[in-house]
Amino acid sequence: MKLFREPQSPFRPADTSSFTGTAQTKLLASDAAVHVYQVRFEEGGRTNWHTHSGVQWLVITDGRVRVQCWGELPHDLDAGDAVVFAPGEKHWHGAVSGSSGSHTAVNIDVTTTWLEPVSEEDYRRSSPAR
Ligand code: MN
Repeated sequence: MKLFREPQSPFRPADTSSFTGTAQTKLLASDAAVHVYQVRFEEGGRTNWHTHSGVQWLVITDGRVRVQCWGELPHDLDAGDAVVFAPGEKHWHGAVSGSSGSHTAVNIDVTTTWLEPVSEEDYRRSSPAR
């Protein structure tokens, strides 16, 4: 058994070279090839477009989180919703415009390749109905 206690890893500002706006990340736990992060996005906060070499799970824990895959419409997710990104799938995640949002991220044998920022046009575009 390996325990990961909450205070051991504080929230830190997300890397401004791969995020837009205000976001904070903390490592919740990691073992072997699995890394679990908690990510908070303030209004307007989002990742750049990126790909992961392995599978990434997101579980929305608070607020509203927008996710989008390249060439597809965005989806707005609520606390309790989850999404899985396949290896190599180009995507971004962040707060829904006008909201804040938080998710847990489970990265399984993942190396992340960071790409271009999400344009304001793409970010502000309204999402389809759920
Ligand atoms: Mn991702």
